[in-house]
Amino acid sequence: MNMIEPTQFISEELRGTLRRNVAMNRHTSWRAGGYAEKVYQPADLADLMVFLHTLPADELVIAVGLGSNLLVRDGGFHGTVLLLHAALTEMHIEADGSLYAQAGISGAKLARFAAKHNLIGAEFFAGIPGTLGGMLAMNAGCYGSETWGLVKNVQTLMHNGKLLEREPNDYEIGYRHVALKKQSKFLENNDACNSISLLIHQEEFFVGARLHMPSGDGDFARREIKSLLSKRITSQPLNLPNAGSVFRNPPNGYAARLIEQCGLKNLQIGGARVSEQHANFIVNVGSATAADIENLINEVQTSVQHKTGIYLHPEVRIIGEYASNHE
Ligand SMILES: Cc1cc2nc3c(=O)[nH]c(=O)nc-3n(C[C@H](O)[C@H](O)[C@H](O)COP(=O)(O)OP(=O)(O)OC[C@H]3O[C@@H](n4cnc5c(N)ncnc54)[C@H](O)[C@@H]3O)c2cc1C
Repeated sequence: MNMIEPTQFISEELRGTLRRNVAMNRHTSWRAGGYAEKVYQPADLADLMVFLHTLPADELVIAVGLGSNLLVRDGGFHGTVLLLHAALTEMHIEADGSLYAQAGISGAKLARFAAKHNLIGAEFFAGIPGTLGGMLAMNAGCYGSETWGLVKNVQTLMHNGKLLEREPNDYEIGYRHVALKKQSKFLENNDACNSISLLIHQEEFFVGARLHMPSGDGDFARREIKSLLSKRITSQPLNLPNAGSVFRNPPNGYAARLIEQCGLKNLQIGGARVSEQHANFIVNVGSATAADIENLINEVQTSVQHKTGIYLHPEVRIIGEYASNHE
């Protein structure tokens, strides 16, 4: 495992942007939720290393890409958000033919870049509206492909700013699940009260990855991207703010089908509604609070479990505190 100390850069001034009390509805695809106490958008990787090195060891830190799988509770996130999508954007082909991309690159850019270089297998990324960092954290996937299926190795930054290189073997990788083996760095907790997947504290962040893909016909890849995108337009409610599939599919089944069978399409709490077009999507019909969305998630989960005995695990990540008036 290679390691670079942030002290190599310590004489540098911070070059990124630090903002306080930032409305996270501007940084999440649900367009809902509370404020983050601090948001840092680094200038580049070296700058992020220095920034992390300056933080107290107990500072709550979370990396956010395009916020397309994230809900920030109305009471806000009392820590520092690292906003990476406009920051870590380097991408190139390495001497051995693998594709190196930094964590802030979007799925769409990654898919197009791979096709341009006649690499095959990254087409599915085009329809996932997240960053490579978020896709690595979630093992995002669709149409039979998953992010980690392409990973040769990853670069991560520790909470103290140290840069590491890790192999897929270092992780436990499953369906929408990625965790460091032995040490549970990405702590997930199934809150006993509401069974929502909460992200408590992140101690290591993805900042880049090398992906390996076979060479092939770039025109074929481009046609594939087009066809996958048009499939999505017809099957997903892309005209209203949402976070994609809210629940993981249960073994041998589909969450959307179960939700529909339970008669929950169009169920609405406040400004949050179960989509008519795709029952595993919750859409913000105008003025949803994070509490509306979370309450609807809980309601759907309880109803489906009551009627079918099947427990639906949320795929979306929820962070932050409830608002003081939360019931
Ligand atoms: C319309 C729509 C369609 C979707 N379709 C799909 C689909 O087909 N397949 C699929 O799998 N998902 C899908 N999603 C969900 C979402 O796009 C993916 O989960 C994506 O990987 C999230 O990436 P992000 O950068 O937006 O992550 P965010 O939402 O910003 O973050 C998600 C989680 O990843 C963590 N994270 C983000 N960046 C990093 C990093 N650099 N290091 C460590 N942790 C990090 C965050 O802390 C958080 O826990 C869809 C969402 C939408 C809105």
